[in-house]
Amino acid sequence: MATAQANAADVVVVGAGFAGLTTARELVAKGRSVIVLEARDRVGGRVLVQPIGNGQVVDVGGQWTGPGQDRILALAGAVGVESFPTYGAEAQHMQYRDGALASYSGPVPDTDPALLTEFVGTIQRLDEMAAEIPTEAPWTAPHAQEWDAQTFQGWMDANLTSDGAKAFMRTVIEAVYAVEPHDVSLLYMLFYARAGGGLMYLTGTEGGAQQDRFDGGAQLVAIKVTEELGERVRLSAPVRRISQDASGVQVDGDGLSVRGQRVVVAIPPTLAGRIEYRPAMPTLRDQLTQRTPMGSVIKANAIYDEPFWRLEGLSGRAVSDTGPVKFTFDNSPRSGGPGVLVGFIEGGDARRFSSATEAERRQAVLGCFERYFGPRAAKPRKYIERDWSAEEYSRGCYGAVFPAGTLVSCGAALREPVGRIHWAGTETATASVGYMDGAVQSGERAAAEVLALLN
Ligand SMILES: Cc1cc2nc3c(=O)[nH]c(=O)nc-3n(C[C@H](O)[C@H](O)[C@H](O)COP(=O)(O)OP(=O)(O)OC[C@H]3O[C@@H](n4cnc5c(N)ncnc54)[C@H](O)[C@@H]3O)c2cc1C
Repeated sequence: MATAQANAADVVVVGAGFAGLTTARELVAKGRSVIVLEARDRVGGRVLVQPIGNGQVVDVGGQWTGPGQDRILALAGAVGVESFPTYGAEAQHMQYRDGALASYSGPVPDTDPALLTEFVGTIQRLDEMAAEIPTEAPWTAPHAQEWDAQTFQGWMDANLTSDGAKAFMRTVIEAVYAVEPHDVSLLYMLFYARAGGGLMYLTGTEGGAQQDRFDGGAQLVAIKVTEELGERVRLSAPVRRISQDASGVQVDGDGLSVRGQRVVVAIPPTLAGRIEYRPAMPTLRDQLTQRTPMGSVIKANAIYDEPFWRLEGLSGRAVSDTGPVKFTFDNSPRSGGPGVLVGFIEGGDARRFSSATEAERRQAVLGCFERYFGPRAAKPRKYIERDWSAEEYSRGCYGAVFPAGTLVSCGAALREPVGRIHWAGTETATASVGYMDGAVQSGERAAAEVLALLN
């Protein structure tokens, strides 16, 4: 076993998010020595909790899981973290559209039957198109060239008739991908949807990707895995350079230098591109890391003495065509108190609001909450926000998004090892890409890849 003082291990892992932690956990289970180097002074990466009093916490990063996301659920179960249902299955949700507020029940707003028909038809059509995409190699799909040559905005303009349906699809793209429809290629959008179980699943709560939360927050799972790994995980250890030769790898960071037979880089592609490699990366890999920007999201939680909306029969969920917060959920702890509303500023709105002051963002967010849930929503006892684009070691969220032309030209370099360097991270997954579950899958795959090669 590697100790805090060890400067060599079988495998060096870069990044202590779910991908890196899973890689390390799998390798340790097979008797291999591992050193995990994490840039931040905490583990979890894109999952993070913050305290809200009385020993309770709120998720400010990734949080939901759903049926079929078996890997993250198994990992949580293995370290003793329970999940519980998102509040509101039986309650009324709010929709704000064209300046009017209405309530609805069920998975999709049904306030305009014609719009609902076009929207559901569009989602079904996109899921049917996505069904032809092999998630192991989406660049080989029969229509890969044609679909990667256009943005999702281009497809919407050519295929949707009503402004209402276009506005609704825009909201879906912002909510699921944290970008605007013009930011993402049609092929990548379809691949991501297919890998995640379809757009209906990804946008859904009951039976969908927002069905459950982790008691104590998603970061608790990462913290518990880290407790198992002990001194193998080193915090505040940003990796700056990776050198390799026939004898092994050398990984250098601020004031540290460790050696291994192999290294697994478990960070998003654009961050991997900021590491210096000796020798330099092959062209395709380097081009990939130049062409895969992260989405943009600001997540805001407002804490109230109680979840007052529940008393009015409301779920705390709102969907809106008017930002900056176009989606909200009840994010109260499992106990039901205090009350927490969470809202998301995404895509273009997130980029604009990144340069506003916190006071301006707070006012805008609470203005949206008030619009959906009345005057009490404007006066939380606490407000907690996180702009993930401002995080040096994330540079955006939820994940990387491939613009037009990138998946077909550079996708093959996503998982392809470069000598002794292997790649993990949710962006390299073939299931639940962009999600915690995908991160775990990528860690399992990277560990298996390395184990097969270790001497
Ligand atoms: C606001 C928000 C909401 C989300 N909602 C959900 C959700 O509801 N459900 C869901 O499943 N997913 C959600 N996600 C996405 C989910 O959090 C991620 O897919 C997942 O956590 C990614 O894990 P990872 O290990 O691949 O990458 P990361 O978590 O990004 O881990 C990479 C780690 O590497 C570290 N690192 C980076 N560069 C270096 C370096 N040079 N040297 C050393 N370490 C480095 C980072 O600090 C980080 O700890 C959300 C994300 C955000 C931000």
